[in-house]
Amino acid sequence: MPDDAHRDLDLLPKAHLHLHFTGSLDIPTLRELSAWEGLDEAEQLIDDDPLSVPATKRGWWRFQRTYDIARHVVISERALRRVVDSAARNDAAQGSRRTEIQVDPTSYAPFVNGLVNALEIILDEAVAASARHGIQMGVIVAASRLHHPLDARTLARLSARFVDRGPGGVIGFGLSNDETEGNTVEFGPAFRIARRAGIPGVPHGGEFRSPDHIAQVIDELHPTRIGHGIHAAESPALLSRIADAGITLEVNPASNVSLGVYSDYSKVPLRTLLDAGVQVALGADDPLLFHSGLTDQYRIARAYLGFSDAELAELARMSIRGSFADPADKARWLEEVDAWLAAEPGREPGLAAMATPPSAGGLVERPSGLLVPASADSPGPASRPASPDHDRHRADARNVSPGL
Ligand SMILES: [Zn+2]
Repeated sequence: MPDDAHRDLDLLPKAHLHLHFTGSLDIPTLRELSAWEGLDEAEQLIDDDPLSVPATKRGWWRFQRTYDIARHVVISERALRRVVDSAARNDAAQGSRRTEIQVDPTSYAPFVNGLVNALEIILDEAVAASARHGIQMGVIVAASRLHHPLDARTLARLSARFVDRGPGGVIGFGLSNDETEGNTVEFGPAFRIARRAGIPGVPHGGEFRSPDHIAQVIDELHPTRIGHGIHAAESPALLSRIADAGITLEVNPASNVSLGVYSDYSKVPLRTLLDAGVQVALGADDPLLFHSGLTDQYRIARAYLGFSDAELAELARMSIRGSFADPADKARWLEEVDAWLAAEPGREPGLAAMATPPSAGGLVERPSGLLVPASADSPGPASRPASPDHDRHRADARNVSPGL
Protein backbone atom coordinates (compact mmCIF):
# COMPACT_ATOMS: atom_id res chain seq x y z
CA MET A 1 0.00 0.00 0.00
CA PRO A 2 1.46 3.44 -0.86
CA ASP A 3 2.22 5.70 2.12
CA ASP A 4 -0.45 8.21 1.19
CA ALA A 5 -3.21 5.61 0.85
CA HIS A 6 -5.72 6.16 3.59
CA ARG A 7 -9.33 5.28 4.08
CA ASP A 8 -11.77 8.20 4.21
CA LEU A 9 -12.21 9.03 7.89
CA ASP A 10 -15.56 10.75 7.32
CA LEU A 11 -16.83 7.32 6.29
CA LEU A 12 -15.48 5.61 9.40
CA PRO A 13 -18.53 4.74 11.55
CA LYS A 14 -18.11 6.23 15.00
CA ALA A 15 -19.89 7.73 18.00
CA HIS A 16 -19.45 11.27 19.26
CA LEU A 17 -19.54 11.37 23.04
CA HIS A 18 -18.19 14.82 23.88
CA LEU A 19 -20.00 17.69 22.21
CA HIS A 20 -21.42 20.82 23.82
CA PHE A 21 -24.65 22.39 22.74
CA THR A 22 -23.91 25.88 21.42
CA GLY A 23 -20.30 24.88 20.76
CA SER A 24 -21.55 22.37 18.21
CA LEU A 25 -22.66 25.12 15.84
CA ASP A 26 -20.97 25.72 12.52
CA ILE A 27 -20.28 29.27 11.44
CA PRO A 28 -22.93 29.47 8.67
CA THR A 29 -25.60 28.35 11.16
CA LEU A 30 -24.33 30.82 13.76
CA ARG A 31 -24.65 33.52 11.10
CA GLU A 32 -28.19 32.41 10.42
CA LEU A 33 -29.11 32.55 14.12
CA SER A 34 -27.43 35.95 14.45
CA ALA A 35 -29.46 37.28 11.52
CA TRP A 36 -32.67 36.08 13.18
CA GLU A 37 -31.86 38.23 16.18
CA GLY A 38 -30.35 41.17 14.27
CA LEU A 39 -27.00 40.61 15.98
CA ASP A 40 -23.48 40.37 14.64
CA GLU A 41 -22.07 37.69 16.97
CA ALA A 42 -21.05 35.45 14.10
CA GLU A 43 -18.91 38.17 12.56
CA GLN A 44 -17.02 38.60 15.83
CA LEU A 45 -16.14 34.94 15.86
CA ILE A 46 -15.23 34.89 12.18
CA ASP A 47 -13.27 38.12 12.02
CA ASP A 48 -11.12 37.32 14.98
CA ASP A 49 -10.25 34.00 16.50
CA PRO A 50 -9.58 34.65 20.18
CA LEU A 51 -8.40 31.10 20.75
CA SER A 52 -5.64 31.41 18.17
CA VAL A 53 -3.21 33.13 20.46
CA PRO A 54 0.12 32.13 21.94
CA ALA A 55 -0.13 29.29 24.42
CA THR A 56 0.82 31.53 27.30
CA LYS A 57 -2.18 33.75 26.66
CA ARG A 58 -4.77 31.03 26.29
CA GLY A 59 -7.04 29.93 29.02
CA TRP A 60 -10.42 29.03 30.25
CA TRP A 61 -11.87 32.50 30.64
CA ARG A 62 -10.94 33.51 27.12
CA PHE A 63 -12.74 30.40 25.96
CA GLN A 64 -15.78 31.12 28.09
CA ARG A 65 -16.11 34.70 26.83
CA THR A 66 -16.08 33.39 23.30
CA TYR A 67 -18.68 30.79 24.18
CA ASP A 68 -20.85 33.54 25.59
CA ILE A 69 -20.68 35.46 22.32
CA ALA A 70 -22.14 32.47 20.53
CA ARG A 71 -24.69 31.75 23.23
CA HIS A 72 -26.20 35.23 22.90
CA VAL A 73 -27.97 34.19 19.71
CA VAL A 74 -29.52 30.99 21.09
CA ILE A 75 -32.47 32.72 22.69
CA SER A 76 -35.60 31.20 21.18
CA GLU A 77 -37.28 27.85 20.64
CA ARG A 78 -36.44 27.85 16.96
CA ALA A 79 -32.79 28.60 17.76
CA LEU A 80 -32.64 25.69 20.22
CA ARG A 81 -34.11 23.43 17.57
CA ARG A 82 -31.70 24.74 14.96
CA VAL A 83 -28.70 23.93 17.18
CA VAL A 84 -29.83 20.32 17.61
CA ASP A 85 -30.53 20.01 13.89
CA SER A 86 -27.17 21.41 12.79
CA ALA A 87 -25.31 19.15 15.26
CA ALA A 88 -27.11 16.12 13.89
CA ARG A 89 -26.49 17.13 10.28
CA ASN A 90 -22.80 17.92 10.76
CA ASP A 91 -22.07 14.79 12.78
CA ALA A 92 -23.97 12.50 10.40
CA ALA A 93 -21.81 13.88 7.58
CA GLN A 94 -18.74 12.87 9.57
CA GLY A 95 -19.76 9.26 10.05
CA SER A 96 -21.25 9.56 13.52
CA ARG A 97 -23.92 6.94 14.08
CA ARG A 98 -24.66 8.24 17.55
CA THR A 99 -23.96 11.70 18.97
CA GLU A 100 -24.47 12.34 22.68
CA ILE A 101 -24.73 16.10 22.98
CA GLN A 102 -24.58 17.76 26.38
CA VAL A 103 -26.53 20.79 27.47
CA ASP A 104 -27.23 22.79 30.59
CA PRO A 105 -30.84 23.80 29.94
CA THR A 106 -30.54 26.47 32.67
CA SER A 107 -28.85 28.78 30.18
CA TYR A 108 -31.77 28.71 27.77
CA ALA A 109 -34.67 28.44 30.23
CA PRO A 110 -35.33 32.22 30.45
CA PHE A 111 -36.13 32.40 26.74
CA VAL A 112 -38.64 29.54 26.55
CA ASN A 113 -40.63 29.84 29.77
CA GLY A 114 -38.53 27.67 32.00
CA LEU A 115 -36.26 24.73 32.52
CA VAL A 116 -38.75 22.00 31.67
CA ASN A 117 -39.69 23.66 28.38
CA ALA A 118 -36.06 24.11 27.43
CA LEU A 119 -35.35 20.43 27.95
CA GLU A 120 -38.61 19.35 26.25
CA ILE A 121 -37.74 21.38 23.15
CA ILE A 122 -34.23 19.93 22.94
CA LEU A 123 -35.42 16.36 23.44
CA ASP A 124 -38.25 16.79 20.97
CA GLU A 125 -35.90 18.13 18.33
CA ALA A 126 -33.40 15.35 19.05
CA VAL A 127 -36.06 12.87 17.94
CA ALA A 128 -36.87 14.85 14.80
CA ALA A 129 -33.26 15.57 13.86
CA SER A 130 -32.28 11.93 14.39
CA ALA A 131 -34.88 10.84 11.87
CA ARG A 132 -34.07 13.68 9.47
CA HIS A 133 -30.34 12.99 9.32
CA GLY A 134 -30.13 9.25 9.91
CA ILE A 135 -28.29 9.46 13.22
CA GLN A 136 -29.09 8.84 16.89
CA MET A 137 -28.93 12.03 18.93
CA GLY A 138 -28.79 11.37 22.67
CA VAL A 139 -29.06 14.22 25.17
CA ILE A 140 -26.88 14.56 28.27
CA VAL A 141 -27.99 17.10 30.87
CA ALA A 142 -24.94 18.79 32.35
CA ALA A 143 -24.89 20.77 35.57
CA SER A 144 -22.43 23.62 35.98
CA ARG A 145 -19.62 23.85 38.50
CA LEU A 146 -20.30 27.59 38.67
CA HIS A 147 -23.79 27.07 40.03
CA HIS A 148 -24.92 25.94 43.47
CA PRO A 149 -24.84 22.15 43.98
CA LEU A 150 -28.57 22.33 44.74
CA ASP A 151 -29.10 23.51 41.15
CA ALA A 152 -27.34 20.35 40.05
CA ARG A 153 -29.77 18.29 42.13
CA THR A 154 -32.69 20.07 40.48
CA LEU A 155 -31.28 19.16 37.07
CA ALA A 156 -30.75 15.56 38.18
CA ARG A 157 -34.36 15.28 39.35
CA LEU A 158 -35.54 16.83 36.10
CA SER A 159 -33.38 14.40 34.13
CA ALA A 160 -34.88 11.49 36.05
CA ARG A 161 -38.29 12.40 34.62
CA PHE A 162 -36.96 12.02 31.09
CA VAL A 163 -34.61 9.06 31.42
CA ASP A 164 -34.39 6.97 28.26
CA ARG A 165 -31.60 5.60 26.09
CA GLY A 166 -33.17 6.84 22.89
CA PRO A 167 -33.21 10.25 21.22
CA GLY A 168 -36.25 11.45 23.17
CA GLY A 169 -34.74 10.85 26.58
CA VAL A 170 -31.96 12.01 28.86
CA ILE A 171 -29.17 9.45 28.50
CA GLY A 172 -26.50 10.84 30.81
CA PHE A 173 -25.79 13.37 33.54
CA GLY A 174 -22.72 15.61 33.36
CA LEU A 175 -20.85 18.32 35.20
CA SER A 176 -19.07 20.95 33.16
CA ASN A 177 -17.56 24.39 33.21
CA ASP A 178 -14.36 25.62 34.86
CA GLU A 179 -13.03 22.62 36.75
CA THR A 180 -11.08 24.80 39.15
CA GLU A 181 -14.44 26.06 40.45
CA GLY A 182 -16.90 24.29 42.73
CA ASN A 183 -16.37 21.53 45.26
CA THR A 184 -16.60 18.14 43.58
CA VAL A 185 -17.79 16.49 46.80
CA GLU A 186 -20.84 18.76 46.92
CA PHE A 187 -22.01 17.53 43.53
CA GLY A 188 -22.06 13.92 44.70
CA PRO A 189 -25.74 13.95 45.74
CA ALA A 190 -26.85 15.16 42.29
CA PHE A 191 -24.99 12.30 40.63
CA ARG A 192 -26.51 9.88 43.14
CA ILE A 193 -30.00 11.06 42.19
CA ALA A 194 -29.19 10.55 38.52
CA ARG A 195 -27.64 7.13 39.12
CA ARG A 196 -30.65 5.91 41.09
CA ALA A 197 -32.82 6.94 38.15
CA GLY A 198 -30.65 4.82 35.85
CA ILE A 199 -28.77 7.76 34.34
CA PRO A 200 -24.99 7.24 34.09
CA GLY A 201 -22.60 9.99 35.17
CA VAL A 202 -20.35 11.67 32.59
CA PRO A 203 -18.68 14.57 34.43
CA HIS A 204 -15.74 16.58 33.17
CA GLY A 205 -12.49 16.11 35.05
CA GLY A 206 -8.76 16.17 34.59
CA GLU A 207 -8.69 18.61 31.69
CA PHE A 208 -6.54 21.11 33.53
CA ARG A 209 -6.18 19.59 36.97
CA SER A 210 -4.04 16.83 38.37
CA PRO A 211 -4.58 13.08 38.66
CA ASP A 212 -5.71 13.70 42.26
CA HIS A 213 -8.66 15.64 40.96
CA ILE A 214 -9.61 12.83 38.61
CA ALA A 215 -9.42 10.36 41.49
CA GLN A 216 -11.77 12.61 43.47
CA VAL A 217 -14.21 12.77 40.56
CA ILE A 218 -14.19 8.96 40.43
CA ASP A 219 -14.60 8.62 44.21
CA GLU A 220 -17.38 11.16 44.59
CA LEU A 221 -19.30 11.07 41.29
CA HIS A 222 -18.85 7.43 40.22
CA PRO A 223 -18.66 8.25 36.52
CA THR A 224 -19.21 5.83 33.67
CA ARG A 225 -17.21 8.15 31.44
CA ILE A 226 -15.06 11.20 32.16
CA GLY A 227 -14.89 14.29 29.96
CA HIS A 228 -11.18 14.74 29.15
CA GLY A 229 -9.38 12.98 32.03
CA ILE A 230 -6.18 13.35 30.08
CA HIS A 231 -4.03 14.27 33.06
CA ALA A 232 -4.48 10.69 34.21
CA ALA A 233 -1.64 10.01 31.77
CA GLU A 234 0.71 11.34 34.46
CA SER A 235 -0.21 8.60 36.94
CA PRO A 236 0.23 4.92 36.03
CA ALA A 237 -1.70 3.93 39.17
CA LEU A 238 -4.67 6.07 38.18
CA LEU A 239 -4.54 4.82 34.60
CA SER A 240 -4.81 1.23 35.75
CA ARG A 241 -7.66 2.17 38.06
CA ILE A 242 -9.54 3.81 35.17
CA ALA A 243 -8.82 0.85 32.90
CA ASP A 244 -9.93 -1.69 35.54
CA ALA A 245 -13.14 0.25 36.20
CA GLY A 246 -13.93 0.37 32.47
CA ILE A 247 -14.33 4.14 32.54
CA THR A 248 -14.15 5.66 29.07
CA LEU A 249 -12.18 8.89 28.71
CA GLU A 250 -13.62 11.39 26.23
CA VAL A 251 -10.45 12.84 24.70
CA ASN A 252 -10.59 16.04 22.65
CA PRO A 253 -7.21 16.77 21.04
CA ALA A 254 -8.13 19.99 19.20
CA SER A 255 -9.69 21.40 22.36
CA ASN A 256 -6.62 20.50 24.41
CA VAL A 257 -4.25 22.31 22.07
CA SER A 258 -6.56 25.30 21.55
CA LEU A 259 -6.86 25.78 25.31
CA GLY A 260 -3.13 25.42 25.85
CA VAL A 261 -3.24 22.14 27.77
CA TYR A 262 -0.65 20.82 25.31
CA SER A 263 1.58 22.87 23.06
CA ASP A 264 0.84 20.81 19.96
CA TYR A 265 -1.06 17.74 18.83
CA SER A 266 1.93 15.44 19.10
CA LYS A 267 1.92 16.02 22.88
CA VAL A 268 -1.65 14.76 23.43
CA PRO A 269 -1.04 11.53 25.41
CA LEU A 270 -3.46 9.38 23.46
CA ARG A 271 -1.03 6.48 23.12
CA THR A 272 -0.16 6.58 26.82
CA LEU A 273 -3.84 6.18 27.67
CA LEU A 274 -4.36 3.37 25.18
CA ASP A 275 -1.18 1.53 26.14
CA ALA A 276 -2.51 1.45 29.71
CA GLY A 277 -5.67 -0.26 28.51
CA VAL A 278 -7.93 2.77 28.95
CA GLN A 279 -11.00 3.05 26.73
CA VAL A 280 -10.93 6.31 24.78
CA ALA A 281 -13.54 8.11 22.69
CA LEU A 282 -12.35 11.00 20.55
CA GLY A 283 -14.55 14.10 20.60
CA ALA A 284 -14.61 17.63 19.23
CA ASP A 285 -15.82 19.38 22.42
CA ASP A 286 -16.73 22.69 20.71
CA PRO A 287 -16.29 22.64 16.91
CA LEU A 288 -17.44 26.25 16.64
CA LEU A 289 -14.66 27.55 18.83
CA PHE A 290 -11.86 25.17 17.98
CA HIS A 291 -12.58 25.05 14.24
CA SER A 292 -12.28 21.31 14.37
CA GLY A 293 -14.98 18.70 13.88
CA LEU A 294 -15.35 15.08 14.93
CA THR A 295 -13.46 13.57 12.00
CA ASP A 296 -10.69 16.11 12.45
CA GLN A 297 -9.83 14.44 15.78
CA TYR A 298 -9.18 11.18 13.93
CA ARG A 299 -7.16 13.09 11.33
CA ILE A 300 -5.06 14.54 14.12
CA ALA A 301 -4.42 11.05 15.49
CA ARG A 302 -3.38 9.92 12.03
CA ALA A 303 -1.23 12.92 11.09
CA TYR A 304 0.42 13.79 14.41
CA LEU A 305 0.34 10.59 16.43
CA GLY A 306 0.94 8.08 13.66
CA PHE A 307 -2.22 6.05 14.03
CA SER A 308 -2.77 3.44 11.34
CA ASP A 309 -6.19 2.83 9.83
CA ALA A 310 -6.51 -0.31 11.97
CA GLU A 311 -5.77 1.74 15.09
CA LEU A 312 -8.21 4.46 14.03
CA ALA A 313 -10.85 1.80 13.50
CA GLU A 314 -10.22 0.59 17.05
CA LEU A 315 -10.65 4.15 18.34
CA ALA A 316 -13.99 4.29 16.52
CA ARG A 317 -15.00 0.95 18.06
CA MET A 318 -14.16 2.29 21.51
CA SER A 319 -16.35 5.35 20.91
CA ILE A 320 -19.23 3.10 19.92
CA ARG A 321 -18.72 0.78 22.89
CA GLY A 322 -18.52 3.78 25.21
CA SER A 323 -21.82 5.21 24.00
CA PHE A 324 -25.12 4.56 25.76
CA ALA A 325 -26.77 3.12 22.67
CA ASP A 326 -28.66 -0.15 22.67
CA PRO A 327 -26.42 -3.23 22.37
CA ALA A 328 -28.03 -4.25 19.07
CA ASP A 329 -27.24 -0.85 17.53
CA LYS A 330 -23.67 -1.02 18.83
CA ALA A 331 -23.21 -4.47 17.30
CA ARG A 332 -24.44 -3.23 13.92
CA TRP A 333 -22.14 -0.21 13.93
CA LEU A 334 -19.15 -2.32 14.99
CA GLU A 335 -19.75 -4.50 11.93
CA GLU A 336 -19.78 -1.34 9.82
CA VAL A 337 -16.38 -0.41 11.26
CA ASP A 338 -15.06 -3.81 10.21
CA ALA A 339 -16.42 -3.22 6.71
CA TRP A 340 -14.73 0.19 6.56
CA LEU A 341 -11.40 -1.38 7.48
CA ALA A 342 -11.86 -4.24 5.03
CA ALA A 343 -12.40 -1.85 2.10
CA GLU A 344 -9.59 -0.77 -0.21
CA PRO A 345 -8.03 2.46 1.04
CA GLY A 346 -8.32 5.58 -1.05
CA ARG A 347 -6.19 8.66 -0.82
CA GLU A 348 -7.73 10.97 1.68
CA PRO A 349 -5.58 14.08 2.12
CA GLY A 350 -3.72 14.44 5.37
CA LEU A 351 -4.18 17.35 7.76
CA ALA A 352 -1.66 19.53 5.96
CA ALA A 353 -3.67 19.25 2.77
CA MET A 354 -7.07 19.82 4.32
CA ALA A 355 -7.67 23.35 3.05
CA THR A 356 -9.64 24.05 -0.07
CA PRO A 357 -9.24 27.40 -1.88
CA PRO A 358 -10.69 30.34 0.06
CA SER A 359 -14.23 31.28 -0.83
CA ALA A 360 -15.30 34.84 -1.60
CA GLY A 361 -16.03 35.33 2.06
CA GLY A 362 -12.49 34.45 3.07
CA LEU A 363 -13.61 31.10 4.45
CA VAL A 364 -12.36 27.68 3.56
CA GLU A 365 -14.28 24.49 3.94
CA ARG A 366 -12.87 21.70 6.03
CA PRO A 367 -13.50 18.14 4.94
CA SER A 368 -15.85 17.98 7.91
CA GLY A 369 -18.01 20.61 6.25
CA LEU A 370 -17.10 23.33 8.72
CA LEU A 371 -16.38 26.73 7.20
CA VAL A 372 -13.46 28.38 8.90
CA PRO A 373 -11.45 31.54 8.28
CA ALA A 374 -8.69 30.88 5.78
CA SER A 375 -6.06 32.08 8.20
CA ALA A 376 -7.25 29.65 10.86
CA ASP A 377 -6.88 26.63 8.65
CA SER A 378 -3.35 25.86 9.69
CA PRO A 379 -3.35 22.77 11.88
CA GLY A 380 -0.76 24.30 14.17
CA PRO A 381 -1.32 27.12 16.67
CA ALA A 382 -1.78 30.50 15.03
CA SER A 383 -0.40 33.63 16.56
CA ARG A 384 -2.85 36.44 15.94
CA PRO A 385 -3.69 38.40 19.06
CA ALA A 386 -7.25 38.53 20.33
CA SER A 387 -9.32 41.63 19.76
CA PRO A 388 -10.07 43.85 22.74
CA ASP A 389 -13.68 43.81 21.51
CA HIS A 390 -14.10 40.54 23.30
CA ASP A 391 -13.32 42.18 26.62
CA ARG A 392 -16.77 43.69 26.70
CA HIS A 393 -18.09 40.21 27.27
CA ARG A 394 -15.90 39.71 30.32
CA ALA A 395 -18.46 41.17 32.68
CA ASP A 396 -20.91 38.51 31.62
CA ALA A 397 -18.57 35.65 32.20
CA ARG A 398 -19.12 35.04 35.89
CA ASN A 399 -22.84 35.71 35.85
CA VAL A 400 -24.12 33.16 33.41
CA SER A 401 -23.45 29.61 32.62
CA PRO A 402 -21.64 29.43 29.32
CA GLY A 403 -24.40 27.17 28.12
CA LEU A 404 -22.22 24.13 28.03
ZN1 LIG B 1 -16.28 19.64 27.35
